[in-house]
Amino acid sequence: MRLVDTVDPEDREEISDLADQILHGEVPAYVNEHRRLRKDGELIWVRESVSMTHDAAGEPRWVVRPVEDVTERKRMADTAVRTVAQLAAVLDGAKDAIISIDIKGVVQWVNAAGERMFGYDRDEVIGRNVRMLMPPRHAERHDGYIANYLETGVARIIGTGRESEGRRNDGTLFPIELSINEAAVYNDLMFVGFVRDLSERRRIESRIDQLAAQRLTAIGGMAGALAHELNQPLAAMGVYLETARRMLQKPPHLRAAPVEDAIARAVAQVARMGDILRHLRDFVGRGEPDKTFQSLHALIEKVAAESFSVAKARGAALALDLSAARDIVVMDPVQIGQVLSNLLRNALEAIGDPLGGRVAVSTALEDDGMIRCDISDNGPGLADLVEERLFEPLTSTKASGMGVGLSISKSIIEAHYGRIRAQSNPRGGTVFSFTLPLAAEEGDE
Ligand code: ADP
Repeated sequence: MRLVDTVDPEDREEISDLADQILHGEVPAYVNEHRRLRKDGELIWVRESVSMTHDAAGEPRWVVRPVEDVTERKRMADTAVRTVAQLAAVLDGAKDAIISIDIKGVVQWVNAAGERMFGYDRDEVIGRNVRMLMPPRHAERHDGYIANYLETGVARIIGTGRESEGRRNDGTLFPIELSINEAAVYNDLMFVGFVRDLSERRRIESRIDQLAAQRLTAIGGMAGALAHELNQPLAAMGVYLETARRMLQKPPHLRAAPVEDAIARAVAQVARMGDILRHLRDFVGRGEPDKTFQSLHALIEKVAAESFSVAKARGAALALDLSAARDIVVMDPVQIGQVLSNLLRNALEAIGDPLGGRVAVSTALEDDGMIRCDISDNGPGLADLVEERLFEPLTSTKASGMGVGLSISKSIIEAHYGRIRAQSNPRGGTVFSFTLPLAAEEGDE
């Protein structure tokens, strides 16, 4: 058979061309890889180095073609290319920066997250010492760390991970969580670092701390207002009890009024103080701030259901229209829950008779990355008297009102970087609105 008959039909034309060129002396030799069909039907890859030998007269004599089966090598190379491509895709898809270095600290590879996090292009970093990604105090000692590890084998960070700092291209430092693995590649040792940017987490933590501090301030303000409020019933109670004591010193028929009256008045003052304290507990007694992103809609639904359970049964209507497309905010749900329940309670008190009363809660997005929540009622609207000082402590038109709800609500909303305001609704009733900043969306920063 002719050798060319074993060439895979797909490669046959190319091989015939090359063979012609050899025969016509156009090329002295060539090397080529192509597929051949074995007798058993299996396709194999071969590598040929073809050349022409000449006789003494210089005439072409033999074509020599050593053929080597390279199927296995081809498959391995192919697998390697695929593996590398897959690995690169996986690494580039990771959210953490992944950086590999050799034992001299020279960067071998950095993934896409690493480019973004540190603000460099890959080729600005590969081949340079990884020190460039560290603040000076770590950079100075990094070579020493590696040398020490190689010498003593005592790992300080490898396999454990720790919090540290990174340095961006523009020189700014940022908090990171760093963990390192080592890998032996043939005989070379390599270190692979996984870096997580903690800036966002730190920002949220400090925001939460701030909220907690502001909450304390709000409580402090409340305590002042309450001391002021408690003083009055205490003084009155003292007077009534003193009166009762004096009365008891006289025989009953000489008393101007029954002792029971004075005691009953003292008891009423005690009850009033109890009310005041209950209000305080409502505002402060509900545990630590919750340190997570929260859905405002979920909170509204929960608080509205609680606040409305009784009024609804008596005929009041509650309409929820939570149509803001985004509603995730960084907040203390206990505090914002207090604001909501306070506004809903005011609305319910405003509508008076639940029958025919209507309260609506809606949300909408504002232009400046804020979400707005409106709580409207069909009550009598704001009394002129209180309109200006609505959010100041101890402003109330209610006989048993404390007048602290709205002032506390305002300090809570402002501690969350939002705003609160009240408007009389032209169609009757009042609308209270507050805004809260939305949590940054993935990729916003
Ligand atoms: P309190 O409810 O104890 O009086 P707040 O600070 O919650 O204290 O409210 C202060 C005052 O604001 C109320 O006494 C009332 O006059 C007015 N107000 C609050 N909400 C409404 C509302 N939805 N409609 C009309 N007036 C309201």
